[in-house]
Amino acid sequence: MDKTHLDKFYKKNHAERMKALIAADILTSDDLLLTDALHLTDELADNMIENHLANYELPLGAALNFLVDGKEYVVPMAIEEPSVIAAASAGAKIIAQAGGFKTTISDRTMIGQVALKDIPDLTVAKSNLVQHKKAILKKANDAHPSIVARGGGATDLFVRFIEADNEAATPEFLVVHLHVSTLEAMGANIINTMLEGITAYLEELTGGTALMSILSNYATECLASAVCQIPVDLLKKNDYTGEEVRDRLIEASQLAYVDPYRAVTHNKGIMNGIDAVVLASGNDWRAISAGAHAYASHSGQYRSLSVWKKADNGDLIGQLTLPLPVGSVGGSISIHPAAQFSKRLMGYQSAKELEAVIVSVGLAQNFSALKALVTEGIQKGHMGLQARSLAISAGASGNAIEKVAEQLKQSKNMNLATAKALLQEILT
Ligand code: NDP
Repeated sequence: MDKTHLDKFYKKNHAERMKALIAADILTSDDLLLTDALHLTDELADNMIENHLANYELPLGAALNFLVDGKEYVVPMAIEEPSVIAAASAGAKIIAQAGGFKTTISDRTMIGQVALKDIPDLTVAKSNLVQHKKAILKKANDAHPSIVARGGGATDLFVRFIEADNEAATPEFLVVHLHVSTLEAMGANIINTMLEGITAYLEELTGGTALMSILSNYATECLASAVCQIPVDLLKKNDYTGEEVRDRLIEASQLAYVDPYRAVTHNKGIMNGIDAVVLASGNDWRAISAGAHAYASHSGQYRSLSVWKKADNGDLIGQLTLPLPVGSVGGSISIHPAAQFSKRLMGYQSAKELEAVIVSVGLAQNFSALKALVTEGIQKGHMGLQARSLAISAGASGNAIEKVAEQLKQSKNMNLATAKALLQEILT
C-alpha cells in the first residue's frame, strides 16, 4: 500500500477516491469498472430472500489509517449514520501513530445446542451422554463430512442442566452443547445440519424429547481482542492537556462499567463501527450484535465491552473483547458483489484476519467517541454531515447542498425549517 495517494481522502470526490485507491495499490483498475456493478441483480436478490421487491441501499465508505498487527488496512463500512467513518478514521490515525492495534484471536469454535426436556433420570442421561461422547461426535461429523474433509468438524460435547424455576414456571432442561470448528465459515448452517443429525440419538440416549436444535449466537468460544497504548502527548484536545483527556476518558470507561444506562450507549458506539464492517463484509450483523450485547453481560451485569486504563508509564491503554464469529466464506459473502468488493478493499486472507480488523474498528470507534464526549461533546463533529442531510431533506441538490449546510452550521436553530428558509433564500 502506498499511503501517500490517500492524503486528504475525505476532500476528494467519488471518482478521485477510487483512482487514489488504485494508485495506492489497494484496488485494481478492474474495480473502477466494477463499482457500478456492485448492485445486486434482481435475479440474485430474488434468490437471497423471499418475496423480493427492491433493493434497499446503504452508503459504503472507506475508513482509513488502520494499522493492525503491523499491517495497514483500508476498511469498508456500510452505514447510514453520519460521522461514524470520520470518527473511526480519526481514532485509527492517532492509534497508528502510537504503534497501532495488537489483536488476539481465539480458536474459532462455534457452539450448537440441542435442548431436551422430560428427561426421566438426569443422572443416567448425563452419564449416557458422557459415555457415548465419541459416537455422538462421529454422528455429528458424518452429518457434514465436507467440513471434516477440510480439517474442521465437531470437536467436543458438554452437558448442562437448567433447573426448573418455579417462580417463572419453567421446567428443567438438559442442554447438550456441541463444539464445532467451522474453519473459514460462520457455520450456522453447518452446525444446524450436525445438530439435526444427532438429535434423535440424543433422545435415545437420554430418554427425553428434543425441543429444538440450533446454534447459539452467544459465541463465547470465538473471541477477538484488540489492545492499543497511546502516549498522552497524542491526546491533547483544545484546552485539555493529554493527561486530562486520558483521565477523563478512563472515568468515562469506569462509568460505562458500572452504569447499564451508559454501558448500552457506550457499546452502541462500538457496534456503530463493528456492524458497519460486518455488514460490508457480507456477514450476519444480527448474529454479531446479539452475541456482543450478551457478552457485555457475562459478569452478571450489562457492562461496557471495552476498558480504558492508565499504563505504568502514564500512557492510555484501551482494550476491547467480544465474540466475533464472522466468516470469510459462506452465507452471502461469496455471492454479494459488494461483499466481494469489500474483501478486495480490505485484503484480508482469513476469517481470523477479518476478526482482527473488525475488533480494531470497534476500539477506534470507541476511542473517538469517548474522546469527543469528554472534551468538546459529540454534536460538533456530527453537525457537519447532519447539516448536509437537513439541506437534502429541505430539497437542496447540487451546489445548493453545500451552501445551505454551511449557513445552517452558523444558524441558531439547525433544523428543517431553517434549512427550508435558507434554501428559499439561495434559490430566489
Ligand atoms: P454456508 O451454509 O454457506 O456454509 C459455508 C460453506 O462454505 C460450507 O458448507 C463449505 O462448503 C464452504 N466452505 C468453503 N471453504 C470453506 C472453508 N475453508 N471453511 C469452511 N467452509 C468452507 O454458511 P454458514 O454455515 O457459515 O452459515 C452462515 C449463514 O447462516 C448466514 O447467512 C447466516 O445468516 C445464516 N444463519 C444464521 C443463523 C443464526 O445466526 N442464528 C441461523 C441460521 C442461519 P462445503 O460443504 O463444500 O465444505
